[in-house]
Amino acid sequence: MSKNFETRAIRTQTERTQFSEHSVPLYLTSSFTFDDAEDMRASFAEEKEKNLYSRFSNPNTTEFVNKIVDMEGAEAGYAFATGMAAVFSTFAALLNSGDHIVSSRSVFGSTHSLFTKYFPKWNIETSYFKINEPETIESLIQPNTKILYAETPTNPAVDIIDLEILDGIAKKHNLLLVIDNCFATPYLQNPIKYGADLVIHSATKLIDGQGRVLGGVTVGRSDLIREIYLFSRNTGPAMSPFNAWVLSKSLETLSIRVEKHCGNALKVATFLEGHDQVNFVKYPFLKSHPQYEVAKKQMRLGGNIVAFEVKGGIEAGRTFLNRVKMCSLSANLGDTRTIATHPASTTHSKLSEADRLEVGITDGLVRCSIGLENVEDIIEDLNQALSF
Ligand SMILES: *Cc1c(COP(=O)(O)O)cnc(C)c1O
Repeated sequence: MSKNFETRAIRTQTERTQFSEHSVPLYLTSSFTFDDAEDMRASFAEEKEKNLYSRFSNPNTTEFVNKIVDMEGAEAGYAFATGMAAVFSTFAALLNSGDHIVSSRSVFGSTHSLFTKYFPKWNIETSYFKINEPETIESLIQPNTKILYAETPTNPAVDIIDLEILDGIAKKHNLLLVIDNCFATPYLQNPIKYGADLVIHSATKLIDGQGRVLGGVTVGRSDLIREIYLFSRNTGPAMSPFNAWVLSKSLETLSIRVEKHCGNALKVATFLEGHDQVNFVKYPFLKSHPQYEVAKKQMRLGGNIVAFEVKGGIEAGRTFLNRVKMCSLSANLGDTRTIATHPASTTHSKLSEADRLEVGITDGLVRCSIGLENVEDIIEDLNQALSF
């Protein structure tokens, strides 16, 4: 289809049934039937494209995957029960014992646990580069390095990594470039345009956007997706048809929601930048962001995450959280509801101060996932919470 993003998000749709339904129905079925022995044989031999069993494919998951494939400019994809199932299965399908990963230091907590606690069990080691030191990446590459991995924008410090630089390094050293594009969504940034081989999303965040279901998806080169698909259809991390149905409907409104999220976030970031109680604000589309130019180059808008440092260290961060009234204290992000977290005392409390600082988490850093409430109400809540 050559239509525009918003149109494709709405009009990419599973073929209608004999009931001519307008909105795609939910296909709650674990398996599918065959006309005869030959139909069954040919379907199992993959001589025809047919759903066999919902661990392999289902009309709802296929529709959801097709939309993400289209939005990201990918060749193929597979949908998972969670974002972490997508991250794990992608690595597990493509790596062998003895392979090596080069990753940015700032990755999602559970991804970091995969690298440090689980992959070493299979003799897969990871080396890390600091977000603002891409010039060190090449020195980390070994003969057995297979994947270059990064997230941008990063969690929770909202740093930006230049996808063009990563692609140059990956191509030069014949590495697979894999990008977790969760914070940007397919609406704001398409890493495949910059040369990424695979793109991963946690659909739990802005893709659902309403804090309801978990999901994940990997899209990219069809030869790699084939490996990931074969691994997954045997190991079983498939997305449920129900979640796929919810998420495919969510994608119909992705552009309009993300536009509003980003508009609200920029207003909140601008407000915070002028506040006495705030040391600094990190938001990709604020001129003060260290990678502002890179963000402008590779992102359509700045995203919905605003990080800022409350004056007064750990205690001030905790006091701020205790004082917010409307905003939620919750682990999710990308919800309609604005959410505040204090990484130094929660998600990253087990890290030493030096390790925290290395990934940009100062003691008073607060991460806000800006929602879709009226922005005046969000600002009023943050303002009253900062008045101590
Ligand atoms: C949340 C998140 C994940 C994991 O997704 P789940 O759906 O919670 O399993 C992976 N990467 C990033 C960047 C995330 O924010």
